[in-house]
Amino acid sequence: MIGLEIKELHVQVENTEILHGINLIVPSGEVHAIMGPNGTGKSTLAYTLMGHPKYHVTAGDILLDGKSVLNLSPEKRSHAGLFLAFQYPVAIPGVSVANFLRTAMNAHRKSIDPTYHGLPVPEFRKLMLEKMKLLEMDPKMGGRYLNDGFSGGEKKRVEILQMAMLEPKMAVLDETDSGLDIDALRIVSESINTLKNSQLGILVITHYQRMLNYLKPDIVHVMVDGKIVESGGPELALRLEEEGYRWVKA
Ligand code: ADP
Ligand code: MG
Repeated sequence: MIGLEIKELHVQVENTEILHGINLIVPSGEVHAIMGPNGTGKSTLAYTLMGHPKYHVTAGDILLDGKSVLNLSPEKRSHAGLFLAFQYPVAIPGVSVANFLRTAMNAHRKSIDPTYHGLPVPEFRKLMLEKMKLLEMDPKMGGRYLNDGFSGGEKKRVEILQMAMLEPKMAVLDETDSGLDIDALRIVSESINTLKNSQLGILVITHYQRMLNYLKPDIVHVMVDGKIVESGGPELALRLEEEGYRWVKA
């Protein structure tokens, strides 16, 4: 299977089981959404996919293009093509957006070709400015320290800028819509749409339907209390928006 496959995944955080057997397949080229109430385990799933050390997989498996990533470090998972846009991106004062992106890109390319010497700065800049234009970002953002004093919308745009530069195989977007005003939501969603292609799978995590109006997921999954309780077409998102989550819990 080309894409992401999550099999019977059980995850503990600080000795409490949060995910109770998640099964999910996101084939390459498709957009899937996970919706669910707060505290239900959506971010736990996202962190677990990336290999955050606090999240312990006690059973099950995570496969990317048919290969288990469970024994890979977060860095190796990223090199393998997994990408996570954080719900709460962290600030790194002292490291500029441009330097961060260039280091990440070069590390990726080096992992594929150990003899790779890095993208020359002018070429890198050209590429970054192209992608920034797409995201309607001020080119000055490249020189600012990563997420340091950024607004909610700026942080989310930088996450998507990273995604655009790293060209992952599977992107997990954790509440990329939160903290965005209507214009920023449209711009960010439209730029995610421009990144869609047959080699990329996207898993969007959200509890609002509004971003899905733009991203038009193939499948919507509902997570409640650490389990996927329902999967269906985009109409499922509309129903949740209207009726809330109570009807799926029963
Ligand atoms: P969601 O993203 O759906 O709102 P989370 O995955 O953030 O939900 O949280 C699910 C549950 O796991 C919550 O009860 C939360 O308190 C707990 N949890 C998540 N991460 C941690 C952590 N690092 N330490 C302790 N508890 C956590
Ligand atoms: Mg969350």
